[in-house]
Amino acid sequence: MRPARALIDLDALRGNYRLARELGGGKALAVVKADAYGHGAVRCAQALEAEADGFAVATIEEALELRAAGISAPILLLEGFFDASELPLIAEHGLWTAVGSPWQVEALAAFDSPLALTVWLKLDSGMHRLGLDVDAFRAAHARLSALPQVGRIVMMTHLARADELDSERTHEQAAVFATATAGLAGETSICNSPALLGWPDVRSDWVRPGLMLYGANPLAVDSTVTARLRPVMNMRSKVIAERWIEAGEPVGYGARFVASQRTRVGVVAMGYADGYPQFAPNGTPVVIDGQPGALIGRVSMDMLTVDLTAHAQAGVGSEVQLWGGQGLSLAELAPRCGVSAYQLPCAVKRVRREYVEG
Ligand SMILES: *Cc1c(COP(=O)(O)O)cnc(C)c1O
Repeated sequence: MRPARALIDLDALRGNYRLARELGGGKALAVVKADAYGHGAVRCAQALEAEADGFAVATIEEALELRAAGISAPILLLEGFFDASELPLIAEHGLWTAVGSPWQVEALAAFDSPLALTVWLKLDSGMHRLGLDVDAFRAAHARLSALPQVGRIVMMTHLARADELDSERTHEQAAVFATATAGLAGETSICNSPALLGWPDVRSDWVRPGLMLYGANPLAVDSTVTARLRPVMNMRSKVIAERWIEAGEPVGYGARFVASQRTRVGVVAMGYADGYPQFAPNGTPVVIDGQPGALIGRVSMDMLTVDLTAHAQAGVGSEVQLWGGQGLSLAELAPRCGVSAYQLPCAVKRVRREYVEG
């Protein structure tokens, strides 16, 4: 069997969830959209269900997959419904829905619901993507509060620049949110992972951690708090071939790497079709049998090449870690490859996932 694997540490996932809730000081929805950022939504939700206050996903299909797997905890649709025809399913499965557009308010008002729904009413506090502006938000709050089909309203907003610790934008957005929600009944929700880790004074009843659950730091700097994050995914594979090449000889497509000395090349069963970044440069760190090593040559669809010259003991069968281990955090690897820490695990496919506890 091809040796490419993604080890998923469910104990680390639970530890990161607990950290998020501790930092938030209230309740936390575990964001498991996009198949739990590539980690497997069903298994991650099952691992968290005993302690999670609820889950959040992007689409009703993602929510129904969790319900079909027996997850009975609250599940929030972060973008709400895409079409009013989803409302009966939302009611049937007891899903929570965000509402952030005037047409969604209208659809809800026209829906003859069999039960009172939980609505997360979304304010646009400055990101200008989803959400109602202040006046429309307050009007919608009054309108929805009066509807029998709406049982509970949580007021939410989303931050655009919480990962930039030198930007005033987060405090400006929080101030708009405070103004918009002043005097209105209901719980509040503001923070995503970067806000939880970087803005301890931005508080709300509910937090919505995503990336940090998977152990990646979305901030550009480390702190005593981010040091407590534990990586969840460990991407690894093995050396499947090796050869010596002479100085001046190239490796791989486009001859992007040319040996400056006699070099031993190892071929690893991992490529961009598995989610490894295609444009990882020469020198990108890997770990070979526990020792720091380096990528050489362009990443192919199914394989990549590493420099084994200084790894005398390594050869065919040697274990190569691509990310997740010591010194190989997503936050360090991603910028070197011109991608974000969010993209790396989300792109993982074809690789066998193996779930481990601790
Ligand atoms: C994806 C998402 C989150 C989680 O964001 P992270 O940066 O991964 O923590 C929170 N809230 C909303 C509305 C989202 O869409």
